Amino acid sequence: MKNKPYRIHHKRPPQKTGDYQSIEEALKKLKKTEPPWSDYRERSLKIHGLICAKCGREFDEKTRHLLTVHHKDGNHLNNPPDGSNWENLCVYCHDDEHSRELLGKYLIEGKE
Ligand SMILES: [Zn+2]
Ligand SMILES: [Zn+2]
Repeated sequence: MKNKPYRIHHKRPPQKTGDYQSIEEALKKLKKTEPPWSDYRERSLKIHGLICAKCGREFDEKTRHLLTVHHKDGNHLNNPPDGSNWENLCVYCHDDEHSRELLGKYLIEGKE
């Protein structure tokens, strides 16, 4: 009887460099195609203008980063295209708006 040489077959999956490329491509595409709500800030600024809805402070191209979009109902996923859930608030008023919400909740929850 002959001993058959015992061979271990390392079956390596064929290395496809193409796969890596397609992943990179997919990532690039992901970066390009942002979710539809990601540009709501720009849309809100266009609809409501570069002005704070609360204090009336006006902004221009240089200071527009200080203007933020507040969601009236607090739901950041609720972005109707007509801008009815958005309010342009400067960072100070926006902060104020949310600290009041928190304070309000705290006061309500504090009551027994
Ligand atoms: Zn303001
Ligand atoms: Zn807000």
